[in-house]
Amino acid sequence: MRQANDNDPKPKGKCPICGRPMVVQYRPFCSPRCKDVDLGRWLTGGYVIQTDEEPEQDEFSPSREKDET
Ligand SMILES: [Zn+2]
Repeated sequence: MRQANDNDPKPKGKCPICGRPMVVQYRPFCSPRCKDVDLGRWLTGGYVIQTDEEPEQDEFSPSREKDET
């Protein structure tokens, strides 16, 4: 095959961490550091981890306190 429209060898996309151009080697990040940051978010609870314990929500609480005079 000929390289017809292959005039854009640069990787497309930005690093989700810092927004710098993505590096293919570390995609979708720009550097191993950013890759580490993303991993750290998981470990430190940056992402919501669902557990068996669910917080009790007052779904049946009436909204009668709406009128505060
Ligand atoms: Zn980055």
